[in-house]
Amino acid sequence: MSQEINYDVIREIIRVSKAMEAAQLVNTYEGNLSIKEGGLLYITPARTRKSTLTEDLICVIDEEGRQIHGSKKSSSETIMHKRSYELRDDITAAIHCHSPYLTAHAMCHIPISAKCHPEILFHFKDIPVAPYGVPGTADIIDQAAPYLKERNLVLLGNHGVLSVGSTLEKAFQRVEAAEKMAKQLFIAKILGPTVDIPQSEIQRLMARPLEV
Ligand SMILES: [Zn+2]
Repeated sequence: MSQEINYDVIREIIRVSKAMEAAQLVNTYEGNLSIKEGGLLYITPARTRKSTLTEDLICVIDEEGRQIHGSKKSSSETIMHKRSYELRDDITAAIHCHSPYLTAHAMCHIPISAKCHPEILFHFKDIPVAPYGVPGTADIIDQAAPYLKERNLVLLGNHGVLSVGSTLEKAFQRVEAAEKMAKQLFIAKILGPTVDIPQSEIQRLMARPLEV
């Protein structure tokens, strides 16, 4: 039985993809966005400039792994997206990208655990780095799985970023905010030394449950 394709979902992927390119967070080679809805996986195609995406290009994959919509091959990281939804039943959207400051942390395996700014603690607590996993394979998400169970944004060692959320907009906001914070932190460390906020405030922020 064929499943009905939700074109509102396709349009949302196109909208956020274009916003991410405008924010210089993705390009033709880097970045893929997906939504899980009605048992179907909607995902951006491989090697396509995000600002040129049209409805016919968004790939839709059914539960048997068959591509039922989209004139191009789906992203090479489709497995990463598919497995993310298997790990977290509270998410419906995932974004993978190579935004520069976060990816620099991933390349150096340096997690973001700044205690000098409440926003980082408030929104992320910390941003861990998963060990390297082979791109385009299940290995990458297997390495990230223990971290993804507890965080909505994870750095993939020597690779990039994985952000998840209850909506694609929220997953996008997370990448956008984390990238900006990583940039601010980089500048602060050059200017530094940074000054930690009070320990009692750090504990309060770390105890707060994270939104999805
Ligand atoms: Zn990648």
